[in-house]
Amino acid sequence: MTVKISQTPELQAFFKTVSGADSDQGSPRAKQLLFRLVNDVARIVEDLEVTDDEFWAAVDYLNRLGARNEAGLLAAGLGVEHFLDLLQDAKDAQAGQVGGTPRTIEGPLYVAGAPLCQGEARLDDGSEAGVATVLFLEGVVRDTEGNPVPGAVVDLWHANTQGTYSYFDSSQTDYNLRRRIVTDAQGRYRARSIVPSGYGCNPEGPTQECLNLLGRHGQRPAHIHYFISAPGYRHLTTQINLSGDKYLWDDFAFATRDGLVGQVVFVDDHQAAQARGLDERFAELEFDFQLQPAVRPAAEQRSHRPRVLQNS
Ligand code: FE
Repeated sequence: MTVKISQTPELQAFFKTVSGADSDQGSPRAKQLLFRLVNDVARIVEDLEVTDDEFWAAVDYLNRLGARNEAGLLAAGLGVEHFLDLLQDAKDAQAGQVGGTPRTIEGPLYVAGAPLCQGEARLDDGSEAGVATVLFLEGVVRDTEGNPVPGAVVDLWHANTQGTYSYFDSSQTDYNLRRRIVTDAQGRYRARSIVPSGYGCNPEGPTQECLNLLGRHGQRPAHIHYFISAPGYRHLTTQINLSGDKYLWDDFAFATRDGLVGQVVFVDDHQAAQARGLDERFAELEFDFQLQPAVRPAAEQRSHRPRVLQNS
């Protein structure tokens, strides 16, 4: 049997030194993680006979990935963000924490501090009037017993018809297509918005560059992101992916899940449009959510993932 150089006592001692084992300063957790990381990188290089050219191409790739702010996108595209959901699902099942609306990935495009509205909100700024289809979106937030949850915060965000998000697309107004809606006494939220488009990774960006090497596309179906929170309930990060989209079950980020498909109904009826104050075709989407009880107060909060305008 060939001895792996990376696994010899000398190299293991070296990796321990590299990851701070000889120092009483620093973070024990960081030392643990970095020891494992360096070890695994060394094993990959050795086992797969990674050439110098391949190694330095990978280092250059990481530089370019960070420079373009696409590390969060790659985490989604390589399915690692979806894996975190599957891992948490499995832990929940073991702990008997089941029921409620499934979680799915947050993605990298949330912006904190969207305007807070009571019961209902208009999400779009009207800039795509005549181009976009008006969408009336509503639903009820319930507990796992089916009782409505009044006072829940439904924090939702989605793309415009070009598939871009406010803040990240500087041509849009602040918080366009982003609102926080507090559910009413019946646990209901209502929104007027526009039907979003799906979108893809920047074709010139490093995430798509990686996907090209894998022979994969970088497209997502149209979808609406949600954070839902309420005192006493477990924070829910999820999204609904819209029926009829060709990428619904072929999402590069693997966010579509059973129980998270939103049925968009397009209404062509002129009288129905007039009743809504419109003279054009519009769409309706009803989607209810169920929240699990929070087993500890910290479960009411979303993760501390660094986000844009986190403290606003
Ligand atoms: Fe998205």
